[in-house]
Amino acid sequence: MAGLDLITANDRPGEYPPSWYAATATPPGPFPAAEGDIACDLAIIGGGYTGLSAALHAAQAGLDVVLVEASRLGFGASGRNGGQVHPGQRLDQEALEKMLGQGRARALWDLALDSVDLTIGLAREHAPDANYVPGLIEADHRARFVPHSHAYARKLNQDYGYDLIRPLEREEMRALVGSPAYHGGTLDMGGGHLHPLRYAFGLARAAGAAGVRLHEMSRVTRVENGDPVRIHTDRATIRARHLLWACNGYLGHAEPNVAARVMPINNFIIATEPLDEATAKGLIANNAAVADSKFVINYFRLSGDRRMLFGGGESYGYRFPRDIAAKVRAPMLEIYPQLKDARIDYAWGGTLGITMNRLPHFARLAPNVLTASGYSGHGVALATLGGKLAAQALAGQAGGFDLLAEIPTPRFPGGAALRAPLLALAMVWYSLRDRL
Ligand SMILES: Cc1cc2nc3c(=O)[nH]c(=O)nc-3n(C[C@H](O)[C@H](O)[C@H](O)COP(=O)(O)OP(=O)(O)OC[C@H]3O[C@@H](n4cnc5c(N)ncnc54)[C@H](O)[C@@H]3O)c2cc1C
Repeated sequence: MAGLDLITANDRPGEYPPSWYAATATPPGPFPAAEGDIACDLAIIGGGYTGLSAALHAAQAGLDVVLVEASRLGFGASGRNGGQVHPGQRLDQEALEKMLGQGRARALWDLALDSVDLTIGLAREHAPDANYVPGLIEADHRARFVPHSHAYARKLNQDYGYDLIRPLEREEMRALVGSPAYHGGTLDMGGGHLHPLRYAFGLARAAGAAGVRLHEMSRVTRVENGDPVRIHTDRATIRARHLLWACNGYLGHAEPNVAARVMPINNFIIATEPLDEATAKGLIANNAAVADSKFVINYFRLSGDRRMLFGGGESYGYRFPRDIAAKVRAPMLEIYPQLKDARIDYAWGGTLGITMNRLPHFARLAPNVLTASGYSGHGVALATLGGKLAAQALAGQAGGFDLLAEIPTPRFPGGAALRAPLLALAMVWYSLRDRL
């Protein structure tokens, strides 16, 4: 399992997965594979939000940028995710204050809010068809969690001056989310949702227009650090003054220091058939995105054409289950039994990167080699920011990048080789706990 190649394990080279997103977005390109001897200021490995945002910002700052993607742009998690834009890090501010103290916790909060503003701004400018919709509901599946959620919303109001979040009592939750499963929670109008693949394509088009040389079907097979760094694909050698690794969950073992700290994990989404207006409104009355309090999180929202896009389901291996639709339909019907007759039109999976401490892993692997990944399920906004921070660090403004890089990311015990079995154990334990 440890040696499994995640770029090809569950997907065909060069093809997008059979997602509702891929069915409703027009890719830019195709872009030519990298060939021959290439020289540039900055080479970027990976064509998701991290790589594309870094490419766009670095090109805008005047760097000559080459981006190489093993498959198609937006092929990875960036083209497959739940589209939920979360204010805040994956860990809440209470946990961050305990872990890092008030000052750094505050700085991480500010960065997270910057990431949301950046994402909404870029989507508006470069991907208006990604249809950003404001509103994010956190729904508690246990009554005993509700007082804490409400106190947390008040803490953000008072300690952080963040007034876009408010508590939801049981009745209001029930009116907004038409499910008996939830007891209360919060509504955050600073978060929201968008069409993730159209957003990735918008970033790609903007990067191309800014002069970035984009290459698809260009898998990096070997990197020689040095000055310049030499990056090898089957058909090209790229000499670059700087390198950014932006491979997140699809990295494999290509960079062992990162692989030991960022674990790939699969997650799954289904899309129902389009629903009539009354049914859709009965599921999520205000068209917000919803994420619940389970450890194996259920997250869901309505698409622009009124499908229920429902994400969840556990997976203990790196191979996708044979019947993704059945796997995700079960938790969907626990939340929305009224969807029992709704046809499932699309079902797909993707791989994201998580870290031991659930904070992103930013690092300088060499003076001229950076990496940013491990967003632990909050990457729509944080990866967009991660790319920008990496670009700024290369231009000599390392403040934001270093703030994250200074927080050590623990290695998974046993390193890359043992990550998968450990994860399986942890997931079994937490999913049992969810059912208690
Ligand atoms: C099912 C699912 C649901 C999710 N839901 C949400 C959500 O609702 N909200 C949220 O904030 N986050 C969510 N996430 C996480 C989010 O999608 C990721 O954090 C984010 O997209 C990471 O972007 P990235 O650019 O770092 O990585 P990716 O988008 O995964 O891109 C990495 C790219 O690197 C390429 N690559 C890898 N190795 C090589 C190589 N050797 N040579 C060349 N290219 C290579 C891959 O092909 C891939 O395209 C979800 C993820 C998944 C899978």
